Amino acid sequence: MAGVKLCRTLACRRTQVFILRSYSRSSTFVCSDIINRPARYFSTRNAHYDLVVIGGGSGGLACGKEAVQLGAKVAVLDYVSPSPRGTVWGLGGTCVNVGCIPKKLMHQASLLGEAIVDARAYGWVLPEANAIKHDWRVLREAVQNHIKSVNWVTRVQLRDKKIDYYNGHGQFENPCTVKVVMKNGKEHTLTASHFVIAVGGRPRYPDIPGALQYGITSDDLFSLENPPGKTLVVGAGYIGLECAGFLNGLGYDATVMVRSVPLRGFDQQIAGIVVDEMKSKGVTFLMKCIPLSVEKKGDGKFLVSWTNTTDQSTHSDIFDTVLFAVGRKALTKELNVEVAGVKTVSESGKIIAENEQTNVKHIFAVGDVLHEKPELTPVAIQAGKLLAQRIFNNSKVQMDYENVATTVFTPLEYGTVGISEEAAIKKYGEDEIEVFHAFYKPTEFSVPQRNVKNCYAKVISKRDDPQKVLGLHFVGPQAGEVIQGFATAMKCGLTMNQLQSTVGIHPTVAEEFTRIYITKRSGEDPNPQSCCS
Ligand code: FAD
Ligand code: NDP
Repeated sequence: MAGVKLCRTLACRRTQVFILRSYSRSSTFVCSDIINRPARYFSTRNAHYDLVVIGGGSGGLACGKEAVQLGAKVAVLDYVSPSPRGTVWGLGGTCVNVGCIPKKLMHQASLLGEAIVDARAYGWVLPEANAIKHDWRVLREAVQNHIKSVNWVTRVQLRDKKIDYYNGHGQFENPCTVKVVMKNGKEHTLTASHFVIAVGGRPRYPDIPGALQYGITSDDLFSLENPPGKTLVVGAGYIGLECAGFLNGLGYDATVMVRSVPLRGFDQQIAGIVVDEMKSKGVTFLMKCIPLSVEKKGDGKFLVSWTNTTDQSTHSDIFDTVLFAVGRKALTKELNVEVAGVKTVSESGKIIAENEQTNVKHIFAVGDVLHEKPELTPVAIQAGKLLAQRIFNNSKVQMDYENVATTVFTPLEYGTVGISEEAAIKKYGEDEIEVFHAFYKPTEFSVPQRNVKNCYAKVISKRDDPQKVLGLHFVGPQAGEVIQGFATAMKCGLTMNQLQSTVGIHPTVAEEFTRIYITKRSGEDPNPQSCCS
């Protein structure tokens, strides 16, 4: 066992085996039993906590803050290993530093570009179109300043709440001990009655020549010193489409390389609509293609070669930036989880847990590090808080991972809650479900004559009474804001009758859900007749 290798003395080796045997989920042992044993059972000992949280991101911070509120003595460890390009950031994890927040701000910058075009139609007198420019460096600085302010507030919060913050890298030494190597090289050894693993993940790189050397990922994009220029985005998941969307909106040539289908796992009719809208705005899509190599040219640009897997043809083009958005891997190997006896999925490194409890009784996990759970900030936060309540307040409330709403922040946003049409057919059969749908025209799109072709709403329900709603899908402006409230309705067991008898707010885009009546089965035209029909 890897953990045993770490022990230098025979006594330590015996302890290691003893501890590992004692900590299966079925055991009644807890870490405090071990810690109360004579000190000779331990190699070193610095500080003991009720809870040590490894990872100061969305999930870890939420769990630590809740636990301290409940009277627990808590330590939070957070350390960011530099990206292959050398990018690092502060406390707060992925969402704040290299995820949701900078992404949303850059998305907003891109939407403002469209608003400027609309403004002219609404009577604003503006300089000629070619005189309106976007400055990447100004945006980058504004985004980074905001992030730094959030980092600072987070640090102050930890201090005020009396959570011990270790800005160091944690590694399990045994199931009850974590060694922390601080930025300055100083080491601490922490023991705890409970551990929460909240180490999240980092972007993967494809195993092709030049990828690691010349490519960047979302870890680097938001702090890029120079404008990205003509960009190839490899990967067509959330991150790939969102980044290509805002880069194109900011005026950069953006190409997305799609290996299989865009937004795999999402409703594929809607994924097609999202892609159509992006194409109409100028994004290029290379369908069914995989990258072969990235080569640096003398002028600093990159020559990328790829294969089209449909006809095996090979192609190449020159780009200023190659952004890999091919998924993320959990940081469990770096944490030495095998020494603690925690089970992971070998390929992804993700932790297998039941109600956030790993196979080792006193070791828990929340957030992106969990196997087969949504990789979303509010999921990590909610799971973290509820876990602390269960550990330190005898709460019985479990995290509900069903019907978690999400939004893909593409130029025309896609918000969804519940299941896709494909998943509903698979689960219930085509005859057992009803699909309601409508294209619609946002009122505010009329004056500037914006493309309304891709504004679409779809509701999937059971066919039998009371026609329980199974999934809602919305493509349009402010889709995240629209879907959030309907997600609560879904949690309350929303039915088609309730949805259709809800009085809308006019003129909004969200009201489209309350007006929806055409079923796919009827074959009726889902296109809008007039604004108020
Ligand atoms: P993280 O936030 O990743 O935090 C883990 C922390 O642990 C990190 O700071 C890490 O450096 C640290 N760490 C790792 N190993 C160790 C160790 N051994 N010792 C000490 N510290 C360690 N979600 C949304 O809901 N909405 C969005 O719009 C959205 N947009 C996104 C955009 C991008 C580009 C990306 C990449 C993600 C986005 N996400 C979004 C997902 C969201 O960021 C994650 O789901 C969320 O951050 C997960 O939180 P976490 O606590 O599990 O992990
Ligand atoms: P995803 O798993 O969503 O997408 C990865 C993409 O990369 C897929 O299109 C995949 O194709 C492709 N891919 C994988 N390997 C290769 C390869 N070797 N060569 C070419 N293409 C490849 O991961 P992301 O990194 O986009 O996002 C990670 C998570 O972060 C998401 O699941 C989401 O939960 C979270 N997130 C949330 C956001 C939000 O809430 N708005 C925004 C951004 C991220 P294939 O389908 O063929 O496997």
